[in-house]
Amino acid sequence: MKLPVILLYHSIAADADDRGEPTRISLDQFERQLDLLRRLGYRTIGLRQLRDRLAEGAGFGRRELLITFDDGYRDNHDIAWPTLREHGFSAVFFLATAWVGGVSDYNRHLSLPMISWDQAADMASQGAEFGSHGQRHVDLRALTPEQAALDLRNAKESLMSKLAPQVPSIAYPYGFSSPVVRQLVQQEGYQLGFGVSWTRNPDRYDLPRMTITRGEPLWRFRLRLLCRELRG
Ligand SMILES: [Zn+2]
Repeated sequence: MKLPVILLYHSIAADADDRGEPTRISLDQFERQLDLLRRLGYRTIGLRQLRDRLAEGAGFGRRELLITFDDGYRDNHDIAWPTLREHGFSAVFFLATAWVGGVSDYNRHLSLPMISWDQAADMASQGAEFGSHGQRHVDLRALTPEQAALDLRNAKESLMSKLAPQVPSIAYPYGFSSPVVRQLVQQEGYQLGFGVSWTRNPDRYDLPRMTITRGEPLWRFRLRLLCRELRG
């Protein structure tokens, strides 16, 4: 199955940040990547285009991509979204719904303020898309099927009541899913599921993404993009 390139970001730091968390990158690194994507002629597509073209088997243009963010840090609203808009790109933001408006205490490495529902609604009114990152940001494989179904249901209900996305979607917490989890996701009415690592048989509930980490040289980012294009 031909897939577009799907990028996975987490947190963007406005200033040099010495916490060393690999998924928190500098604004400078982010802007250089967006500049390169624009120069190379990439354009972002949304969840509806992704869903429909996967269903039709219609394929994707070589320079079409999705930009995604996991967890829902407040810097996604304050820094990432305005920067994306300046570059003419859109993005999908996956929120761990129980943590919205709080602090990311589930992640001992990266305790940061999270986006609020009002901030998310503000971004949605400007074209940002939102999906679920589970309710409590737990590894869904570690729960019983009943517990996992409840987490998925609660997350989707919050998301639908607050932001009403057109295409209910999920990015699996930590990128982890299993056949049982993917079955539950489908049963709970999600239409797309995003993971992290490359799978030999990707489908709409197991979409691989390219994780962006701190300090990666631009040439290496460009090389990985090229590999993804060739492999997709
Ligand atoms: Zn996460």
